[in-house]
Amino acid sequence: MRITDLLNTNKVTFSLEFFPPKTEEGERILFEETIPKLKSLNPTFTSVTYGAGGSTRNQTLRIVNRIKKEFGIESMPHLTCVGSTREMIGEVLEEARGMGVENILALRGDPPKGETQFKATEGGFSHSLDLIEYIKEKKHFAIGASGYPEGHIECPDKILDWDRTAAKINAGAQFLVTQLFYDVDAFLTFQDYLRTKHKVTVPIIPGILPFLGAEQVKRFTSMCGAKIPPAILQKIDACKTDEEVRNVGVEVCTDICSKLIKHGTKAIHIYSLNRVPSSEELVKNLGLI
Ligand SMILES: Cc1cc2nc3c(=O)[nH]c(=O)nc-3n(C[C@H](O)[C@H](O)[C@H](O)COP(=O)(O)OP(=O)(O)OC[C@H]3O[C@@H](n4cnc5c(N)ncnc54)[C@H](O)[C@@H]3O)c2cc1C
Repeated sequence: MRITDLLNTNKVTFSLEFFPPKTEEGERILFEETIPKLKSLNPTFTSVTYGAGGSTRNQTLRIVNRIKKEFGIESMPHLTCVGSTREMIGEVLEEARGMGVENILALRGDPPKGETQFKATEGGFSHSLDLIEYIKEKKHFAIGASGYPEGHIECPDKILDWDRTAAKINAGAQFLVTQLFYDVDAFLTFQDYLRTKHKVTVPIIPGILPFLGAEQVKRFTSMCGAKIPPAILQKIDACKTDEEVRNVGVEVCTDICSKLIKHGTKAIHIYSLNRVPSSEELVKNLGLI
């Protein structure tokens, strides 16, 4: 089903993001333990990331196909422009279509390891905007795009980045999923800007990461330019074990999501990190099952 239709409900819904496991054992755990447990929470849809440098191209589609066929849960592949020509992207889209995929999260992707600047592959795309336009031409998929409540890390001006986000919607993106953030006001300001300045009406789905460790959350936020508000940082730094940090992660994300829901948010995208407990606790705390 199209995510745009699935989101067309009065209920608050949530979705779960997975990454393709690197090993056979990892995939076994995902399909025999993780997804069966998370399926019982009744997620609206799932999404599967596309490895850096396009490295998990086949894996991503295979995992999406398995989730759809074996669990009957809608699943959306992420797709990036990294290392791909237009023709290569066209082939991925054909393969996806053949599997019955109806939704794509269209992204530019990060520069390959060791490089600081994204360079388009010859015959490929420079921005997610180009990919969105290309997918739209295919007239088959519901298209999602990224949004950055604190601005994309490469863009010197977050308002300019938000204007470019609006351009992605004008080009055909039908919903946004945001980068992780821990500052509720940053999300609300971003959303308000798109809704008022650009008259954006598509769903803007906050991306929520219940972090698992102190080093992890600091690394993830610094990589994408998100801030950890001082009050949250203090809580993290006061923890003595990773389990304490994980509990703080669930507590912080419950608080953020509760505030967002009070402000009218209807859908939440949880970066599950292929783990059960934090996503499960978050969904239960929010009363979404
Ligand atoms: C929800 C979500 C899921 C993600 N999943 C993955 C994944 O599966 N695999 C992966 O490798 N990465 C993933 N990423 C990371 C993403 O690939 C990086 O953040 C990447 O640096 C930017 O991708 P984008 O699609 O946001 O790029 P774009 O929308 O193209 O933006 C990238 C930069 O270019 C600028 N820009 C945009 N349009 C224009 C234009 N027309 N002219 C000039 N400049 C422009 C923007 O301001 C920004 O600074 C994800 C990010 C999010 C938010």
